[in-house]
Amino acid sequence: MTDAAGSADAADAVVVGGGAMGASIAYHLAAAGAGRVILLEREAALGTGSTGRCAGGFRIQFSSEINVRLSLASVAMIRRFSEEHGLPLDVDVDGYLFLVRDEAAWAGYRAAAAMQRSLGARVEELDAGAAEALVPGLNVNGVVGATFGPDDGIADPSGLTNGYATLARRHGAEIRLGTEVTAIRTSADGSHVTGVSTPGGEIDAPVVVNAAGVWAPALAAACGIELPIHPEPRHVVTTSAFAGRPERRTLVIDTATMFYFHREGPGVLMGMPRLADAAPTFETVVDDRWIAGELLPQAVRVLPALEEAGLARSWVGLYEMTRDHHAILGPVEGLEGLYLANGFSGHGFQHAPIVGKIISELVTGTAPSVDVSALRLERFARGELIGESHVV
Ligand SMILES: Cc1cc2nc3c(=O)[nH]c(=O)nc-3n(C[C@H](O)[C@H](O)[C@H](O)COP(=O)(O)OP(=O)(O)OC[C@H]3O[C@@H](n4cnc5c(N)ncnc54)[C@H](O)[C@@H]3O)c2cc1C
Repeated sequence: MTDAAGSADAADAVVVGGGAMGASIAYHLAAAGAGRVILLEREAALGTGSTGRCAGGFRIQFSSEINVRLSLASVAMIRRFSEEHGLPLDVDVDGYLFLVRDEAAWAGYRAAAAMQRSLGARVEELDAGAAEALVPGLNVNGVVGATFGPDDGIADPSGLTNGYATLARRHGAEIRLGTEVTAIRTSADGSHVTGVSTPGGEIDAPVVVNAAGVWAPALAAACGIELPIHPEPRHVVTTSAFAGRPERRTLVIDTATMFYFHREGPGVLMGMPRLADAAPTFETVVDDRWIAGELLPQAVRVLPALEEAGLARSWVGLYEMTRDHHAILGPVEGLEGLYLANGFSGHGFQHAPIVGKIISELVTGTAPSVDVSALRLERFARGELIGESHVV
């Protein structure tokens, strides 16, 4: 794009993608004094990708240390968002409850809880009775134990995304909607990025952040970078009001199937991975037969009162999965100026606050709040994958 004087459009940093991640990155870059920041989103509104379809859960209960460290920092940012920034954000801190019905799995959950506590998290181990007391009406038959994180909870994805966008604008960042990035441009020798191309013209920038969610691989491929991320569709169903609806908004997970629910409005919101979802596809058609045949029976097994609930809405969104269920974060070896914030594998909403901060620290040469060097893209080529079993 050129202005009236014929000079190219330019920025100090371009952020591609206006989901929770891109909005947080744009704000943190602008607030850190990274210069002129432009966020480009191809849709007509922010947060219409995975962010707009997400369940809004946040938790410290993960099985890898790096995910716990990211969560400890990020959850604190979500919880103090309104107070710190003076902007509204719906946040309920009623905890996450993992129900475990298998002895071998319970050993794993207890080990993870011990690790979480060693890093400063509050996590309780409950027996079946205590789990039922927390969420009355749960079927706890066969439950050998449960872990409960009292500092986990639920927040509004749209509120967080638009909140960070407001803050980004206040700090001078520019947000351009309806602007698709068709390429990340690089120098002739391919050693560093020089900006991006859009249908409206080029924007020169020494720093480009790929925050394009599940579409990040296509963008990265345009500058020769292969991102091992695949789309995994996930169903979400909400119900109308029903007798026996839980009062607390505790997010309950039955770990045998990873079926989960939490109170949402007059009913509950629930979801569960579908076996077929493991095959990568961008298809987001609701499978009513699977909902009726598998999701609802499982829902009634876990919370019998759901038998009487009517369905309100259902939708499908895309998880942006990596092989080890961890994000791909940071700069890329051999291509200066490109930063990745991708592959959050179903927990990118809750990590958006801290990831925005970390990307801004990496770009401005400040020590990152959390050491994320283990999450760099190069770990795949080096075979240094990290395990994460708490994928909901
Ligand atoms: C059903 C479901 C439930 C979930 N539940 C949770 C949860 O409880 N807790 C949690 O933490 N996470 C959850 N997630 C995961 C979470 O939604 C994602 O990890 C997170 O939203 C990723 O944010 P993002 O900004 O990276 O991606 P997105 O929100 O997908 O944003 C990417 C944006 O980039 C734009 N874009 C793509 N390509 C281009 C381009 N070339 N040019 C310009 N713009 C482009 C897209 O239009 C999109 O707006 C859930 C996801 C789903 C699907």
